[in-house]
This record gives sequence, C-alpha cells and structure tokens, in this order.
Amino acid sequence: RAKEEGRNTYRLYRADMHARDHRDLALETALRNTAETGEGLAVHYQPLIDRDSGEVRGAEALLRWTSPELGVVSPGDFIPLAERSGLILPLGRRLMTLVAGQLRAWRKAGLAPPPVAINLSARQFWQQDLVDEVRRLYADFDLPPGQIGFELTESTLIDRHQRAAATLEALRELGCYIAIDDFGTGYSSLSYLQELPVTTIKIDRSFIRGLGQSRGSVAILAAVTGLARELGLRVVAEGVETEVQLEALKAYHVSLIQGFLTGRPVAADTFRECYLVRPPR
Ligand code: C2E
Ligand code: MG
Ligand code: MG
Ligand code: MG
Repeated sequence: RAKEEGRNTYRLYRADMHARDHRDLALETALRNTAETGEGLAVHYQPLIDRDSGEVRGAEALLRWTSPELGVVSPGDFIPLAERSGLILPLGRRLMTLVAGQLRAWRKAGLAPPPVAINLSARQFWQQDLVDEVRRLYADFDLPPGQIGFELTESTLIDRHQRAAATLEALRELGCYIAIDDFGTGYSSLSYLQELPVTTIKIDRSFIRGLGQSRGSVAILAAVTGLARELGLRVVAEGVETEVQLEALKAYHVSLIQGFLTGRPVAADTFRECYLVRPPR
C-alpha cells in the first residue's frame, strides 16, 4: 500500500510539475516572440514628486506587456522569467529605445521632460557593451546629459565592486544618475555606498509601509536618512500610499516621493497631460 501511495504521490507531483512547466513554457514562448517583434510592449511612467514644491523631478520607466496570446501579464510574472531566460537583454534594449524615442518626441514638441530612470537587472548591467549602448542612445536620440538615469539593486553591485565602479563611473560621465533600488532589502555591507559612484537611494516600499505602524520602520528610516546625509546621497521614498507615511517622511526631511499617493504609473500620453508643461519662452 505504501508503495502504491508513494507512486500516486509521485504521479500527482509529476502532473503538477507538468502543468507548471507547460504554463512557463507558454509564457516563455510568447515572451520570446515579443522580444523579437516588440509587439505588445509599452512603457508606463511614474512621477517622482518633490513634496515641498509639488514639482515633477523625475519619472521611472516601467515595462508593460500585453501578450497577443495570453493578454496582460504583470511585470512580477514576466520580469523574473525574462531574467532567467536571458530575454531581459533584448527586452531591455527595446525599452531603452522606446523611452529614448518618447523623450525625443516630447523635446521636439517643446516640452521639458524630467530625467527618466530605467531599471537594469544584473544581466543587463554586466553585459559588455552597456556603456556603448547608452552612449549611442544619447547620440541617436539627441538627449541632453542627465536625461536618462538607472536603477540597480544592491545585489547587482555587491559581488564585483571594482568592475561595477568602472561601469558606473562611465555612466556618470554621460550624466546619468544612479539609484540603488529597493534599498535595505539586500543583505549588504554598507561599505559599497562610499566606494561606488551612486547618487540616490530609494528606500524600499516594505519600510515605507510600516511607517505609522511599526517602530522598526521609523528606526530604519532614521538610520537610512542619516547615512544618506553623511554620504551626500539623495533619498527617494518609494511606494508611498498614505498621508500618514508622507508625514513620517517629512520628519526625516525626505521630500522626493514616488508612490500611488502622488501618482501611479501611467501611459506616456497621460504622463504628458498630467505632468509635462511647456517651459516658459
Ligand atoms: P521597482 O523598480 O521597485 O518598481 C516599483 C514598483 O512598485 C512598480 O511595480 C510600481 O508600479 C510599484 N509601485 C509604485 N508606487 C507604488 C505604491 O505606492 N504602492 C504599491 N503597492 N506599488 C507601487 P511594477 O511596475 O509592477 O514593476 C515591478 C518590478 O519589475 C520593478 O520594481 C522592477 O524591478 C521590475 N521592472 C519593471 N520594469 C522593468 C524594466 O523595464 N526592466 C527591468 N529590468 N525590470 C523592470
Ligand atoms: Mg525601480
Ligand atoms: Mg523600487
Ligand atoms: Mg521595490
């Protein structure tokens, strides 16, 4: 009997595995097609707001995918798959071109778009020709220095310090600002912050969520803002959803806010209507 049961369990397990494999495979096939054609890809832009002046100081570019076969797929599902499969390289290239094209179009229309941050996963950051690609992008789309910045996570930078520093230096020379995304969630030694030319840290949503609820979150906020001040880094709070959180951030002089409270990620046209104004002549 035990043997019988064991075998059934095994079969169940196998069936389950097959279903999952099948879904993953369908998703990967669809994503591969999209990486080749660009069909169904779009970019949403989320504003970075200066709480004191209400001005837009930047935007984060976020990839959106509607698969012709599968419908809307959330980034939480397709980005990890893209990273695992290597498809993040062609997809990331497409995103960069879409963003640069949008920025050029806005500038040609007489608008003054703020710096736009592009997320880079480890695979993209460590690819040989990243800096050349970014340099070419600036040239091909006539972008002024600083128009594009990048967000990287701690885990991407930690292993190979010295090479990371060289790449970041080169990006800084192009005027790009460099933000550490999801700050505080990696298991980092903090020393890399003073060794690498980063400009900004983005406090992760998980700490912002706890503000007004847990003393731990306030303690972390105090520590992170103190550290940033000493090192001369800009601080951005991400995932701000409530007035209570906003108030707590005010007490620690965090004025750069990105979250649903100040603005959700929106399509390019909406972003233009809501956040871009013509500069005075
Ligand atoms: P992330 O870089 O940390 O981006 C912030 C995420 O938080 C976005 O989710 C955004 O929609 C969401 N968010 C912003 N404000 C709030 C808020 O107030 N409350 C809540 N609950 N969420 C908020 P999204 O667009 O689903 O992206 C998820 C992740 O996927 C991103 O996290 C980023 O790591 C990755 N990702 C998105 N686009 C790209 C891309 O073009 N390239 C790469 N490599 N990764 C990307
Ligand atoms: Mg990000
Ligand atoms: Mg983030
Ligand atoms: Mg995050």
